[in-house]
Amino acid sequence: MTDLPDENTDIKDTDIVFDCPHCGKSLAIDYRGAGLAIPCTDCGNPVEVPIPSGMDISDLDDSEEDKEIRILNLRRIIAQSEARIAELESELESVYERRETLEKLRSENMYRFGRITEKVDEIQSAMKTVNAALDVIMDAAIKAEESAPPPAEPEKDKTAGNGRNS
Ligand SMILES: [Zn+2]
Repeated sequence: MTDLPDENTDIKDTDIVFDCPHCGKSLAIDYRGAGLAIPCTDCGNPVEVPIPSGMDISDLDDSEEDKEIRILNLRRIIAQSEARIAELESELESVYERRETLEKLRSENMYRFGRITEKVDEIQSAMKTVNAALDVIMDAAIKAEESAPPPAEPEKDKTAGNGRNS
C-alpha cells in the first residue's frame, strides 16, 4: 500500500520530471538539481538531470541554501564514486592476488618439471654406467672364455675353430 516513493506522490511545479535512461523509471527532481549527475532512485545508476529549456544554470546559485543543496548533492555523488572506486580497487587487488597465485603455481610447476628432467638425466647416466659396467663384464667373460685352454671337447673346437684356431 505504501510502496510508492515520496517523489511520486508530491511532484511540485518546480520539479524536473524525466525518465532514467538506464531503467526508464520516471524521476522527479527538484529544479535545483538541474545539470547534476545523481543516482537513480530505482536502479542506482548515475543520471544527469536535464536542464529545462529557458532555465539558466547560473540562476541556481542565487541563494546560500541552493548552494548548500548542490554541495550536498555533489558530496553524495563523490561518496558514491569513492565507494565504487574502493570496490574496484579491492576487485583489482583480488585479481592481482589471483595472478600472483597463478604465477607461483607456474613457477612451482616449472621447478617440478626441472626436477623431473634432472631425475631423468640421472637415471639415464646411471643406465649408461650400468651398460658400461655390463660391457666390461661381458668383455671379461668373453676374454676368459677365449683364453680358457681346454680344447678337449669337440663342441668347443667347433665354435672356436671358425674364428681363430685354423
Ligand atoms: Zn534508473
